[in-house]
Amino acid sequence: MGLFVYKFGGTSVGTVERIQAVAHKVKAAHDNGDQIVVVVSAMSGETNRLTGLAAEIQKTPVAREMDVLLSTGEQVTMSLLCMALIELGCSAKSYTGGQVRIVTDNSHTKARIKRIDDKKIHDNLKAGTIVVVAGFQGMDEEGNITTLGRGGSDTTAVALAAALKADECHIYTDVDGVYTTDPRVEPNARRLDSITFEEMLEMASLGTKILQIRSVEFAGKYNVALRVLSSFSEGRGTLITYEEPAVEQALISGIAFNKDEAKLTITGVPDIPGAAFKILGPIADANIEIDMIIQNVADDATTDFTFTVHRNDLAAAKAILTSTSESLGAKSVTTDEKIVKVSIVGVGMRSHAGIASKMFEVFADENINIQMISTSEIKISVVIDEKYLELAVRSLHAAFDLDKEPAQ
Ligand code: ASP
Ligand code: MG
Repeated sequence: MGLFVYKFGGTSVGTVERIQAVAHKVKAAHDNGDQIVVVVSAMSGETNRLTGLAAEIQKTPVAREMDVLLSTGEQVTMSLLCMALIELGCSAKSYTGGQVRIVTDNSHTKARIKRIDDKKIHDNLKAGTIVVVAGFQGMDEEGNITTLGRGGSDTTAVALAAALKADECHIYTDVDGVYTTDPRVEPNARRLDSITFEEMLEMASLGTKILQIRSVEFAGKYNVALRVLSSFSEGRGTLITYEEPAVEQALISGIAFNKDEAKLTITGVPDIPGAAFKILGPIADANIEIDMIIQNVADDATTDFTFTVHRNDLAAAKAILTSTSESLGAKSVTTDEKIVKVSIVGVGMRSHAGIASKMFEVFADENINIQMISTSEIKISVVIDEKYLELAVRSLHAAFDLDKEPAQ
């Protein structure tokens, strides 16, 4: 018996039947003696539908009103779920974020949670009531409705679990856990029983879209045991934890990839102090995020400089770089969208040498040209031609034995 926060994402509550299935799952846990707080997302497609309506009226909708609009999606789900629970004979009550005092700052559409008043929820739980809370939303100090950014219900769930000192926070979604890589690319991908917070953060920032990154950060900070499970099947899912695997275990936990980046190169840049700043300064001023950067050794007093940005920012970045190129007297600007970033992630690489060379050996054997490389303590990323994505992921998966259960 314990206190659990269950979060159900959009597809898990996408229809009345699914909402009823969720009610059965929650009732089963409650009948078992557990205290349950449920956090729900809007029914699948609803947040996009509402965003579309707003866009028909205002090109850039007023953020405060956008939050009022978007917060209604979750409100629909929470009330329907309570009705379904009550139909099953449970005592259940739904609350908006503001009603349970999820207090945030006032940055509309990307607010951050400041504090949560857990009293009302605890009182309900003690009285045997299942509490259903709307995800993704809160209230600022003045009582304005705020939202936490797309995917924000995950963060609501983790924040509630931290505030209520829950035993575990379960994120129910349409996959049954975190996999060694995307099973659509490598059918031999294996579900991980556990993964560390650090690894999960890397996987999420590298494009594994299971959890909102901020929720993982939050869970790590407050040491909330977080479990990702399927709402459609049984199973223990994947536990995200602080515990690191034993040394004999896998060096690499997973392979992530990101197809959303594009590469820009400026050639013939005078090799003088300040050149990098002149190139990247205007890009940063335009609020464009830069990911990987390479500057080559200077040859004949000029150098080539390459970096990557999100594909959506490519056109803007190219325009800025072209004008920088003219003012710097550089030679040319070229761009490439047909790239993919492939990364191997694992805390195991901290204590083992030779992981990078093993990765590069795989690319050498497969004749895949590496265009850029970046590393951190627990990750190695390379940029390659996107046509090699599947080959690269599958060869790495096999080379690092990710399809085999790690030794105990
Ligand atoms: N409904 C919101 C979204 O689609 C929040 C969430 O589902 O986590 O982003
Ligand atoms: Mg989500």
